[in-house]
Amino acid sequence: MKKDVAKYIYILLIGDVEKLVNIREVEENLRREFGFPKKILNSKIDPEDFYDPERRQYHSTKILKEMLDDVPPDALRMIGIIPVDLFIPILTFVFGEAQLGGTVGIVSLARLRQEFYNLPPNQTLLERRLIKEIKHELGHTFGLVHCPLRECVMSVANTILDVDAKGSSFCESCKDLLLRNQKKPVGLKP
Ligand SMILES: [Zn+2]
Ligand SMILES: [Zn+2]
Repeated sequence: MKKDVAKYIYILLIGDVEKLVNIREVEENLRREFGFPKKILNSKIDPEDFYDPERRQYHSTKILKEMLDDVPPDALRMIGIIPVDLFIPILTFVFGEAQLGGTVGIVSLARLRQEFYNLPPNQTLLERRLIKEIKHELGHTFGLVHCPLRECVMSVANTILDVDAKGSSFCESCKDLLLRNQKKPVGLKP
């Protein structure tokens, strides 16, 4: 009996993401490090269900949990992109979140946009930042933790300056681990 092989990285659009970024461009950029074919899906998740009126932000971990219910059987990993600002209770905000060694991750566009800092829009910069953050969260789903090397995409970013300062690639040791973990049999959800 042959089981379905999980082989796609799904990009899940939660809300009107395509109004803000050219998602095909982003997908193309992910090809080098994540050779798996990608599928783009529109999510039925309503972010408003996860709005915290006191914080005026959206609960990242709860959205991740909700995403787990929507993981298609042929998905190796699924990464959500959402326009709204995300938080987890112990932090003022997060650029994104992922299950370490799990299936799903999410990235928020809110603080990657120049408009958030009262600066003129910059599409190229937004997409560059988004690609870094998607790679970072996908790295976590493949078991990678934060890297001390500033040039590595797995280095921690607490501010948008950190995002811009770090590189968009994995350092040698992160790359090794990523390749090793990508070969591991998958298909089991955490
Ligand atoms: Zn991280
Ligand atoms: Zn690294």
